Amino acid sequence: MSNWLVDKLIPSLSRSSSEKRSSNVPEGLWRKCVKCDSVLYRPELERNLDVCPKCSHHMRISARKRLDYFLDKENREELFADIEPVDKLKFRDSKKYKDRLSSRAEGNR
Ligand SMILES: [Zn+2]
Repeated sequence: MSNWLVDKLIPSLSRSSSEKRSSNVPEGLWRKCVKCDSVLYRPELERNLDVCPKCSHHMRISARKRLDYFLDKENREELFADIEPVDKLKFRDSKKYKDRLSSRAEGNR
């Protein structure tokens, strides 16, 4: 892929090249397939349920999005939505579980 294409269409991929970006292309409108490197128009990709139309690669999606794709919109009721994860074990891998939970809370709610 040429640098021009990356700069013009996928500003988030070319952060190092320059800060200024094309004003009429909203950020995040394009997504690159991790398997075939095709540049995909995000609304079209979402219509295709996040499956690459070029190579049929299934993109990574969030749990919420998976539920939306899988379940009917009507007559759906979320149970126990108020239950939050807790760090009973004081668990730590590459990072403290407590920190993962707090960054998750900032991102989702
Ligand atoms: Zn692909």
